[in-house]
Amino acid sequence: MQRNIRLRLLSNFVIFFSLTAIAWWSVLLFTLNRDAFQGKAGESKMLMIAEGTISNDAEYLSTQYYKDLQAEYKRQEWMILGESLVFILSIIIGVYLINRGYNKEIDAAQQRRNFLLSITHELKSPIASIKLVLETFIKRELSPKHINQFSNNALKETDRLNELVNDLLLAAKVETSYTPNLEKINVTQFLTDIIERLRNKYPHVVFDFRKPSDTVDIYADKTGLTSVAVNLLENAVKYGVEKTKISTVLRQNGQEQIFIEIADNGIGIPNKEKDKIFERFYRVGNEDTRKTKGTGLGLYIVRQIILAHNGMVTVSDNRPQGTIFTISLPVNNG
Ligand code: ATP
Ligand code: MG
Repeated sequence: MQRNIRLRLLSNFVIFFSLTAIAWWSVLLFTLNRDAFQGKAGESKMLMIAEGTISNDAEYLSTQYYKDLQAEYKRQEWMILGESLVFILSIIIGVYLINRGYNKEIDAAQQRRNFLLSITHELKSPIASIKLVLETFIKRELSPKHINQFSNNALKETDRLNELVNDLLLAAKVETSYTPNLEKINVTQFLTDIIERLRNKYPHVVFDFRKPSDTVDIYADKTGLTSVAVNLLENAVKYGVEKTKISTVLRQNGQEQIFIEIADNGIGIPNKEKDKIFERFYRVGNEDTRKTKGTGLGLYIVRQIILAHNGMVTVSDNRPQGTIFTISLPVNNG
């Protein structure tokens, strides 16, 4: 970091020096140009007076020669001004582009660091729990009740590991080789089932589902769409506050398009983070201070899957607090 600051200071100094040098050279050129003009004008005036072509200053100022000389002087003045401005603008644009690249590089490095920290943690903690359970089985004579309890815990941890590995594989797949395997899906039933599953998993959360009276069918990839819905709903739970309420709304727009809206009353997403959350490994805040677990892959997967279906996913603020994710999908997809 110290090295970065020193490099920045040095480059700022070089840029400042170059800009000052250009400004200085421009002023110098202006002065030289003016001196040359005045010199030439003075010389030609003396010559004309000596030749008897003119008799005073006023006559000289109205000669064609003086007018041409003055036009040339003005033209050169504009040229110097133009060139200096182009130089200065080029340096400013160059500096802006370099800075932007540099900041992007820093963001990417921070994300890689976040990802490594979170993935190491996500992998280590279930492995440690499973190891502990197995060691306990070896060392102690346990009652069937305890064996059952410990085995269930270990199974939950393996599920977590499995989910994580699946997320990693899916993220790699959506980046390179994902094409939706289209089949007819009754979205009303599909969402009802997923929400029911999550109601059982998170009994403390209120799930609300509004749907049109007619069933809504679309052609889409069921596995992909499941991942989208589960990721968004799990996020709504994960980034919720006390008394979490998650409202899902399904709407159909004519025969062409459907909308799925998932709104929560959670912690919300600051405006400046709204674009970034769809990037791979991006998580709001800092890994050292964050309390929630995750890899920052969920929304990346969501966006890639929706884009592969020629749809769109957007994020906005909920009122009075929370976040709304809206997905639009074509009914027929080609
Ligand atoms: P995982 O890969 O396990 O899903 P994650 O939940 O951190 O990890 P994403 O689902 O991609 O990753 O979300 C990216 C970030 O966006 C989250 O870390 C969180 O900061 C923010 N975020 C996502 N959904 C919500 C939400 N409903 N409310 C508030 N913040 C959210
Ligand atoms: Mg997530």
